[in-house]
Amino acid sequence: MHTVLDPATEDVVTEVSGTSAAETDAAIAAARRAFEAWRVVAPDDRARLLRRFADAVDGAIDELAGLEVRNSGHTITNARWEAGNVRDVLHYYAAAPERLFGRQIPVADGIDVTFKEPLGVVGVIVPWNFPMPIAGWGFAPALAAGNTVVLKPAELTPLTAIRIGELALEAGLPEGVFTVLPGKGSVVGARFVANPDVRKICFTGSTEVGKQIMAGAADSVKRLTLELGGKSANIVFADADLEQAAATAPYGVFDNAGQDCCARSRILVERRAYDRFLALLEPAVAGVKVAEPGDPGTEMGPLISAQQRDRVSSYVEGDGADVAFRGSAPDGPGYWYPPTVVLPGGAADRVWREEVFGPVVAVLPFDDEADAIAKANDSDYGLSGSIWTRDIGRALRVCRGVEAGNLSVNSNSSVRYSTPFGGFKQSGLGRELGPDALDPFTEVKNVFISMAG
Ligand code: NAD
Repeated sequence: MHTVLDPATEDVVTEVSGTSAAETDAAIAAARRAFEAWRVVAPDDRARLLRRFADAVDGAIDELAGLEVRNSGHTITNARWEAGNVRDVLHYYAAAPERLFGRQIPVADGIDVTFKEPLGVVGVIVPWNFPMPIAGWGFAPALAAGNTVVLKPAELTPLTAIRIGELALEAGLPEGVFTVLPGKGSVVGARFVANPDVRKICFTGSTEVGKQIMAGAADSVKRLTLELGGKSANIVFADADLEQAAATAPYGVFDNAGQDCCARSRILVERRAYDRFLALLEPAVAGVKVAEPGDPGTEMGPLISAQQRDRVSSYVEGDGADVAFRGSAPDGPGYWYPPTVVLPGGAADRVWREEVFGPVVAVLPFDDEADAIAKANDSDYGLSGSIWTRDIGRALRVCRGVEAGNLSVNSNSSVRYSTPFGGFKQSGLGRELGPDALDPFTEVKNVFISMAG
């Protein structure tokens, strides 16, 4: 049994019982049976069911957002966007069943065609930082491609996933096609990895657990998509619109209280603009409104748990980091931590190298373009990043040089459901979202048909 706490108040929200290993295996077996019928549902019917599922989510936006505010401490503005993202991703992939094209390839003595076959049961394992969107990025394309899905939300944040599972049934998806199994990673998640009937794991979470899952999947050559940690760089050149770069930088790292794999938690500033940028950044950080997450004016809520707050604090108070300036946060109950800007001693500092996953950003200067690229790439991660400059040639050169999957120029936005998302290096394996995300949920089958008489 897991007690769900409201991170803003520490009040008990509800209790959720964890699925056992035996119950997980039974659900996987049911998903395996449901697959036989789901894979042959006519493409237009499967598309229609996914659109109905999207409409059911749309009708529940306020309810889902309210659950996420209480379960995760997300701001109501973010939570509404997150529920809307599930709807949009379902709509986007609802177009896929009727467009899952194979190829016809010229060959001698016959014709050759390819089919994109579904895999079977897909296991989606979700972290606590974005419970709704990350679930949808896995289950929507998986279902559209004809797979059935078992989904494990993070132990801390099961409530929206449970409700979305109910909405799927209400929308008419057959039993067993999409099953939500709350519980522990070491129990439910571990069964997803070990059970041979699960043909693919779509995992989002820490690099550490991702590596364990990758090793476990080797046993049955299980397909994998991994979306892991990040330590993304926000690179600001002296020729940039510094006012705009500084005004937006706090939101590029402190959104969702910094519990964002794409957080631009390293700011690199060209040396001759460094002092000016910090002077502009200070009021921008002070202006971030950290308050009760249900208030529509709030820009940042609490951290997810006391344990996460301890972890974040270990990088600042624990390491005696040089704090340049900070914003504010409420006192009293709740897992609050103020937006914090630190000046590391150098690139070897823990706060510069490790994913803090909280509202802490580190700032270092760089000398020139080559130095900026080298410092940005001096990381095991490679998820996202930003480049601020008015020189389009430089923007392109730096984009091509930075080893990361999602970059933005003069912007800190990384995620659109219609464009690919994923990491280089230890930030992950494979891509989600966008036009190609169906392919990793299918196997290509090649068929030669003889024309011999
Ligand atoms: P986590 O790795 O601890 O847990 C993620 C999920 O895996 C949870 O559901 C957990 O129960 C489960 N799990 C844990 N141990 C398992 C095991 N042995 N077998 C199977 N499943 C297991 O991560 P977290 O703390 O929930 O999430 C934070 C991390 O997620 C951060 O590192 C963050 O960067 C990363 N993240 C990455 C992306 C991305 O797209 N790249 C997006 C969001 C979060």
